[in-house]
Amino acid sequence: MTINHWINGSEHESSDGRTFDTVNPWTQSAWTDVAEAGQGEVDDAVGAARAAFDSGPWARMGFGERGALLHALADLIDEHIDELADADTTDMGKPLSAMKVKDVPRAAQNFRFFADHARLTAAEAYPTDSGHHAYSRYEPAGVVAAIAPWNFPLMLESWKIAPALAWGNTVVLKPAEDSPASASILARLATEAGFPDGVLNVVHGFGPDAAGEMLTQHGDIDRITFTGESNTGRAIAGAGASNLVPVSLELGGKGANIVFADADLDEAVNWSNKAVFTNAGQVCLAGTRLIVQRSIYDEFVSRFVESASAMIVGDPRDAATQIGPLSSRTHFEKVSGFFDDLDPAAEVLCGGVADDGSWAVHPTVIVGSPDDSRICRDEVFGPVATIAPFDTEEEAIAMANSTKYGLNAMLFTENVRRAHRAAAALRAGTVWVNCFFVRDLRAPFGGVGWSGVGREGGNFSREFFTEPKAVVMQP
Ligand code: NAD
Repeated sequence: MTINHWINGSEHESSDGRTFDTVNPWTQSAWTDVAEAGQGEVDDAVGAARAAFDSGPWARMGFGERGALLHALADLIDEHIDELADADTTDMGKPLSAMKVKDVPRAAQNFRFFADHARLTAAEAYPTDSGHHAYSRYEPAGVVAAIAPWNFPLMLESWKIAPALAWGNTVVLKPAEDSPASASILARLATEAGFPDGVLNVVHGFGPDAAGEMLTQHGDIDRITFTGESNTGRAIAGAGASNLVPVSLELGGKGANIVFADADLDEAVNWSNKAVFTNAGQVCLAGTRLIVQRSIYDEFVSRFVESASAMIVGDPRDAATQIGPLSSRTHFEKVSGFFDDLDPAAEVLCGGVADDGSWAVHPTVIVGSPDDSRICRDEVFGPVATIAPFDTEEEAIAMANSTKYGLNAMLFTENVRRAHRAAAALRAGTVWVNCFFVRDLRAPFGGVGWSGVGREGGNFSREFFTEPKAVVMQP
């Protein structure tokens, strides 16, 4: 059954019948084909979103009514957990158990959170000396183009769509070409939940010279929200600049993880493992650059290697599997390339590329690689950690900050003063102290430098997805 576009409340094939395959990375064979959008489908989707925004009820609904529809969609996501979990696992190889426990529930939570946040957030009023009544209004921006990656397909799509819709915008989503299935299910469920036609549209296809570029360069969109690689972010920023459309960019990362000698070592090993190996390391927030104080270095390395080696790699549908294959042949080859290009000083303590013909990479720990080597500088986006020792806090902070990326950092210490000092000194959008991946959806989310432009989450999403307006009234 072909995965089709969802435009103006119903399923559509491409007008020229063009399709592409989507491959299950565990079986390594195409499991279905996907309609590939051309300019006609992108125009239709943007046109439907524009009409729904300009003339439909959506942008004019009260927050309570729109929020109720978002809650209805969240309930349908919960009811269709098996179908949605299966879609992403089949498309990109993530363990089914993780989909059911984390990704799908979090997608539902995103819709509930932003529905409630939009309804409950107050706007500002400004007391003036002159007695004028001055206040802000947060009005929907219009048609939002959302471009998503394949690493958390449903979850990251909902992270973009939910605030955009909650604030009264309409959306055209282009999911990643490697993970199209869950987006089409989501759009179908939105229509089932009662969303007016044209409010949420999905077009499938590739990025450069294809649907992604056609959408981001379209003259009738009002916002671009993008998550993906930093280089793609540059291209998308250019598309936004040419039409003067605001762009939110959530890009790559090379997260540092500092373990101080006074850390609780059990906790540090446990969280550091999760931070690197969750989702086979295909996580923008992965804490892949471990920086460990010299006095505990040997013990930490030995315990970390033990925990990495114990992880179960295999079929993502097996309940016991912790790490599935990488998401595609292309990505597997990209990650494998790092192993072919290691510095002579680097020592691989465990892991490496699977030798069974699968596209899996076993949890890998590398020591001894110079700070400026490729494996320590570039985003690998696979289950690969490098570890380096440090002596002083200043040195650790300097090492952590020595990259162009700045999405997140972690630190492990039992010293509360050090924790606050280091959190302030780290150049990153998020700092986790003695934990990883814990999110408060009101908090700013985004990155510094090559890791992004802008912030989303809570009021930060409101700023991006609305046109704040000042109203001043004569007393
Ligand atoms: P990617 O940049 O290759 O693709 C992302 C999306 O952009 C896809 O839908 C693709 O089709 C589209 N695209 C590609 N070129 C385009 C263009 N010129 N114009 C318009 N659209 C285009 O990224 P990916 O490989 O899918 O995802 C992995 C990357 O995403 C990693 O770098 C990771 O760190 C990053 N990421 C960041 C965050 C974050 O929140 N900061 C979250 C998840 C992933």
